[in-house]
Amino acid sequence: MNAQSSIPAVTLQHVTKNYGQVQALKDINLTIQQGEVVAFLGPNGAGKSTSISLMLGTRRPSSGQVELLGEDPRIANHRKRIGVMLQESGVPETLKVRELVELFGRFHDQPMDTRAAIKMAGLEEKANSRLARLSGGQKQRVYFALALVGNPDVIFLDEPTTGLDVEARRNFWDQINDQVSMGKTIILTTHNLEEADALANRIVVINKGEIIADGTPGEIKRHVGGKQIRFRAPGLNLLDLQQIAQTDKVQHIGETFELFSMQPEQILSRLFKQDIELSDLEVVGAGLEEAFLALTSAK
Ligand code: ADP
Ligand code: MG
Repeated sequence: MNAQSSIPAVTLQHVTKNYGQVQALKDINLTIQQGEVVAFLGPNGAGKSTSISLMLGTRRPSSGQVELLGEDPRIANHRKRIGVMLQESGVPETLKVRELVELFGRFHDQPMDTRAAIKMAGLEEKANSRLARLSGGQKQRVYFALALVGNPDVIFLDEPTTGLDVEARRNFWDQINDQVSMGKTIILTTHNLEEADALANRIVVINKGEIIADGTPGEIKRHVGGKQIRFRAPGLNLLDLQQIAQTDKVQHIGETFELFSMQPEQILSRLFKQDIELSDLEVVGAGLEEAFLALTSAK
């Protein structure tokens, strides 16, 4: 490893970001090494885009320190080593795809061939179309081409596949994975666990401005892979259930008990053995929201 690649791509130290009364990020500490492919996974409003804008230097932290490639992200030099695809791009729609990609390439010292960038984004057939005539998904590919054309070392993708249908999303994953196999550092955001799993080798789970988990996709899925069990049991109280289920991740909502478990079968079998009468029993795969609850309550 040369000296340059040992500098982290990004470091955040005690980073807080407030928008007026809204605390969008709360004391975030994070280091991303060059070569990592990191997905920020979290629901809407979690602070994903805010994190990206701080890393890019387009916003300043309220407190704490942010570095991009070892220096202040506002330093112009860095802009040449990074490629960015934001949720809102605001590029002129009267230009043709080829013209726009070429124009963006000129901002960089060593851009790739315009045609190569267009090919990598899967846009060959639309190279001569004006942006205004493209579908939402095709525009997203154009923004991807703009992120790639400068031959960046570090690529930021903020919710790159939001709004795409399943097939378009999978195609896009292939294209992103091509960049992964070229050894690029990629930092992306998503609210889709499957997407984080398909692309990243590290998932940082963020909720309400805080990092609540950080690990390999396997580690994260082990947390979020559990099941939600719901039932009514008039004769049972919360404490007894916690003891039987051997977990405190139990809620009593109205008449219904709700609990999250990695081994729902074992819990149910213990309940049945004690002859506890259950009604309206449901066992469902936990969604991201339940996973967040489980992750936060496990802390
Ligand atoms: P995400 O990208 O995860 O959906 P954001 O980083 O966009 O989340 O937003 C985090 C929080 O900060 C949300 O509560 C959002 O409403 C708030 N927020 C984001 N941008 C602004 C802004 N410019 N002014 C005020 N509040 C903002
Ligand atoms: Mg966002």
